[in-house]
Amino acid sequence: MGRPLTARIRLDAFRHNYRLAKASHGGRALAVVKANAYGHGAVRCAQAIADEADGFAVASIEEALTLRAAGISAPILLLEGFFETAELPDIQAHDLWIVVHQHWQVEALMATALSRPVTVWLKMDSGMHRVGIEPERYQAVYARLKSHPQVADIVLMSHFSRADEAGSTYLPRQLKIFHESIAGISAPISLSNSAAVLGWSAAHADWARPGIMLYGPDPFVGQMDEPGEPLSARLRPVMQLEGALISVRTIAPGEPVGYGGMFVSDRATRVGVVSCGYADGYPRTAPTGTPVAVDGQLTRLIGRVSMDMLTVDLTDLPKAEIGSRVELWGDQVPVNEVASRVGTIAYELLCNVKRARFVYSDTSY
Ligand SMILES: *Cc1c(COP(=O)(O)O)cnc(C)c1O
Repeated sequence: MGRPLTARIRLDAFRHNYRLAKASHGGRALAVVKANAYGHGAVRCAQAIADEADGFAVASIEEALTLRAAGISAPILLLEGFFETAELPDIQAHDLWIVVHQHWQVEALMATALSRPVTVWLKMDSGMHRVGIEPERYQAVYARLKSHPQVADIVLMSHFSRADEAGSTYLPRQLKIFHESIAGISAPISLSNSAAVLGWSAAHADWARPGIMLYGPDPFVGQMDEPGEPLSARLRPVMQLEGALISVRTIAPGEPVGYGGMFVSDRATRVGVVSCGYADGYPRTAPTGTPVAVDGQLTRLIGRVSMDMLTVDLTDLPKAEIGSRVELWGDQVPVNEVASRVGTIAYELLCNVKRARFVYSDTSY
């Protein structure tokens, strides 16, 4: 079996989360599976919901073609559209939908002969100021695309910069700008990422674009204190990142552990070494105290994370031994918890997982 590091991916949890996203938003939902499904494996995730998903969203034609090659026939949206005009023939050949967010893309689309009309998601910069058509030019661009025989359907789209901040006043401002700027246009609308699906019903429209919530993490990281059970409590973690103890030893009080001697024992300490390090995507910056679960019991990381190993405190876990299962994140240790210890978000940790063995399960079939 080799080195014991496994990313267990529960496809039934992924499907459950997709259904929850779609039902709580209403209308249709594109499952965002860019970046190899946030590190979970885009093909396996897409296949798990292939017969019910309204479509998928990815970041590039390469990601889209991987799904097409695996037999995914549902609509696939390229979230950044095309990066060069030369991609248009493949976009056509594989029947992909494109986001148009730059004026040069509009011009390129108009100037290229296409074999059949293409579906366009026309993105507005309603305040994120990254990509998108300026609000004051949006109507004119829409009218141009609409009148062009090479354009099939147009979806009106924008993206929020602060949807994951409960009570943000910026999201309502973006929403207002968006709606004022599309006045008079009758076309489907798509605004919501996961945080907006969960927390901003005013932004719900025809199409949702959930990403992170499909993999389990609450994008609000527990900030929402609504009455009753928040919707996010019904999300299920999809990935369990599991290593094992490969060494156990007891050190005397006052002894340092690991590179830099960053942890020094204040009592006789039972130290466990886990088969996971920063080369696997576990963050090197995780400090002493970051939670891990050994054989189902919570304990803490101690000392500095190294490339292939990390160390944990087993002093209060006398039964833990070589071979004991260690959960780095999953059901018992929320990936959000590890992320907040290192000042990042679950998205980054999940996308970074590598070198682990990926094992897929699906209990509902
Ligand atoms: C990545 C992405 C999403 C999904 O965002 P989450 O926060 O993961 O739900 C939605 N829309 C666009 C345009 C994106 O780039």
